Amino acid sequence: MDTRIGIGWDSHAFKPGIPLRIGGMTIDHPEGLAGHSDGDVMLHAITDALLGAVSAGDIGSFFPPGDARWKDADSSIFLNLALAELESAGYRIVNIDTTLVLTAPKIAPIAGDMRARLADLLSIDIDQISVKAKTPEGMGLDHVAQCHAIALVQRTPESEELKSMSAVIETQKQLEDVVDDLLASVHGVPKKRVITPIFDTEDIT
Ligand SMILES: [Zn+2]
Repeated sequence: MDTRIGIGWDSHAFKPGIPLRIGGMTIDHPEGLAGHSDGDVMLHAITDALLGAVSAGDIGSFFPPGDARWKDADSSIFLNLALAELESAGYRIVNIDTTLVLTAPKIAPIAGDMRARLADLLSIDIDQISVKAKTPEGMGLDHVAQCHAIALVQRTPESEELKSMSAVIETQKQLEDVVDDLLASVHGVPKKRVITPIFDTEDIT
């Protein structure tokens, strides 16, 4: 399986007098999002999408809300954990799409900055991350911010190489050949083939 997909969703209530953190940015607004951590609804949704894509659980299984260590934590910590899980599973991000659902502030004017910040945090190009926003029309959720995220991931070529290598290596001799090949490719010189002659050529005549 070369590609996998993950989905994430999160919500936090607005609370006056605390900083608003969304997408790894501090946004000028009279209210912030209440949470055990910094309440960054978007980073939490993306973290769950990435963990989900490689069946690695969810944010709560790694960072229980009651754990004092994550009180007011910068949510990029959670994102970094998801990136590490993704890498150790042998996958990389193809693209991530997000939808924020909130009444205010207006996201469109800062969506470009938010994408740049997210691309930076995720070590991807800006065209691999999308930020969209809607208002929660008719849902009675004006005091809440929600975020939906979806992530497509792809097996890394390196892990493909390792997989095929492990399938081939069955004997010590094969292992030595693989190591020789690797050394040759690293040093850019053809590998040495040590051929042991069956007969001493002097004796064939
Ligand atoms: Zn959250």
